[in-house]
Amino acid sequence: MSLVYLSMGSNMGDRLDFLQKALKRLQETDDVCVEAVSSVYETEPVGYREQPDFLNLAVRIKTLLSPEILLSELQRIEKDLGRKRNRRFGPRTIDIDILLFENQERSDDRLSIPHPRMKQRAFVLIPLRDVMPDMSEVVPDDAGVRYYCDMDLPSCENDSRSPAKLPPD
Ligand code: ADP
Ligand code: MG
Repeated sequence: MSLVYLSMGSNMGDRLDFLQKALKRLQETDDVCVEAVSSVYETEPVGYREQPDFLNLAVRIKTLLSPEILLSELQRIEKDLGRKRNRRFGPRTIDIDILLFENQERSDDRLSIPHPRMKQRAFVLIPLRDVMPDMSEVVPDDAGVRYYCDMDLPSCENDSRSPAKLPPD
């Protein structure tokens, strides 16, 4: 099992609903268990600024998948939720990025881990701190990142601790 941290963002349509649907899809993915979800934060766009504010959150998962297969699964969820790949850094229904995958370090065309821009981004690090209490990164100025709401953890079908899976008394 690998310990993995993801970030999700949405700034089109019903942003909270896209995050909820993406979390549910993630929880339903074989060999993925969502362990913790951060609060939701409303954040001002960085880079290409002429677009609506985002809702962002961070997720801690355990998975048996390789980084490549996990990325494909995340891209499938993005596609199913209507993500169109047009402008890089532009508006999107849902963006799911791999921030950290165990202690792996790699950088190729398809996948860079740790995510190369995470350290400068308060909209990534502030949610990440919620699901990674021992985080060592220094969080940059949090201007433009506002608490929005809490998010329920979707129940884990495969989780033996789930009450539904406990044998009857
Ligand atoms: P961004 O997330 O940078 O705004 P996209 O979601 O469109 O942009 O992703 C562009 C490409 O980034 C993807 O096709 C994917 O192959 C690549 N990529 C590289 N590293 C990562 C990572 N750690 N997590 C997610 N995608 C990544
Ligand atoms: Mg992305």
